[in-house]
Amino acid sequence: MIVLKFGGTSVENCEKIDRVLDIANSQIDRAPVLVFSAMGKTTNKIEDIIEHAVIGDRDKANILVDQIKEMHLKTAGEFLSGGILASTQADINDLISQLSSLVKGLSLLHECSPRSRDALLSFGELLSTRIIASRAMERGIKTELIDARSFLITDENFNAAIPLLDKIDEAIGEKVFPEPLKLIVTQGFISSTENGVTTTLGRGGSDYSSTLIGSSLSAQEVQIWTDVDGIMTSDPRYVKGAKTINSITYSEAGELAFFGAKVVHPATIQPAVRQQIPVLVKNTLNPEGPGTSILPVVDDRGVKAITGKRDITVVSITSSKMLNAYGFLKNIFTIFDRYKTPVDLISTSEVSVSMTIENPEHVDNIVRELEEMGTASVEYKKAIICLVGQELWKDSVFVSRVFGSLNGTPIRMISLGASDTNLSIVVPENKLNETIQSLHDEFF
Ligand code: ADP
Ligand code: ASP
Ligand code: MG
Repeated sequence: MIVLKFGGTSVENCEKIDRVLDIANSQIDRAPVLVFSAMGKTTNKIEDIIEHAVIGDRDKANILVDQIKEMHLKTAGEFLSGGILASTQADINDLISQLSSLVKGLSLLHECSPRSRDALLSFGELLSTRIIASRAMERGIKTELIDARSFLITDENFNAAIPLLDKIDEAIGEKVFPEPLKLIVTQGFISSTENGVTTTLGRGGSDYSSTLIGSSLSAQEVQIWTDVDGIMTSDPRYVKGAKTINSITYSEAGELAFFGAKVVHPATIQPAVRQQIPVLVKNTLNPEGPGTSILPVVDDRGVKAITGKRDITVVSITSSKMLNAYGFLKNIFTIFDRYKTPVDLISTSEVSVSMTIENPEHVDNIVRELEEMGTASVEYKKAIICLVGQELWKDSVFVSRVFGSLNGTPIRMISLGASDTNLSIVVPENKLNETIQSLHDEFF
């Protein structure tokens, strides 16, 4: 069997949904499970609804709910007919009235808990899959719509839930039976606790859903269908001359995703590694194109892609007590640990340590505690640039080429991945795009 995942832009209207069903139908003898995101920018719109509802702006929230309703009803009306259209319209109306009730609750309470947020965000995928499954049936394709919350079981960490793999294996074994000549349709991104409370895997999490499902079903392949020709040497929205990469290893793809390449969600690779499943990234608008294969092993070396991550905060501590002392780093990390703040990059000298964090929510408390050990400081508006590739250090001129292309951009930190697959540098955020472009011009 295989898993195919389609992102929001791939299903944003009737024409695109039909195109996606053509792609799936052409592989129907491989027992496909189809995983869908919400249509277009629906999830962003639900986030807007939440923002308006919690400040009590119920009118604006209702206008946005109506827009979501109209868009889905219009899509259904354009390519469904008869009884299928009627039952799909009834289901859309039912989902929208559930959404409206939740929005009403938020605007009365002026508050949205993480748990409510997940309940609201789930409607994008529930609506899209209802329509897509109906369209497949209308086209005469044998189709089964399965609610992902019946098998994608997670913990209660709302907004970024952690999958419980054993429970998922068990539930999928009981509920999901792929077979040739049948399309199974399900939602990406949404999941549920053991008690049936809706959770989500975090924004962009449909990619992760697809490899979780693929891994539980021992899929031959997971295909991630998106709006670009695969994983590229850099984000084509910002970098001129970005090219598609033919093949990339799990660890390279993992580093790229972690350091900002939105094309796959950072957690996507782990489940694929578990069963050594190849992941193919392809373009819905160019299905003939080769796309990118993410594989356990690829025989090459050198820089393969450059990515960037904005909104990085650097926390530093300088202390002469560090000199020749042990236990110092442990004390520093205990503080970050206490505030549940992950550190991404770190660079040290004899008397100072600098660390990058993504979430500065607790930074004031962290700095206050660090001050007890030395002089601490915080710098905002930094960015990480990550060069990814295998055996980067075997190329003796690699580092000099990197530094030679910086054109005066100041480097705040540098970190060499122990895995040999990445070099990360921290630069001012306002220099991010131009620095990536000049590194890209140098290496590609
Ligand atoms: P989907 O809705 O299909 O999940 P996303 O918008 O989440 O699509 O991801 C696809 C986008 O990722 C592309 O349109 C592209 O702008 C961006 N992107 C960022 N880095 C890369 C990269 N290295 N290669 C390809 N796309 C990238
Ligand atoms: N619809 C969700 C989002 O926009 C999940 C996804 O697209 O992967 O974040
Ligand atoms: Mg995505």
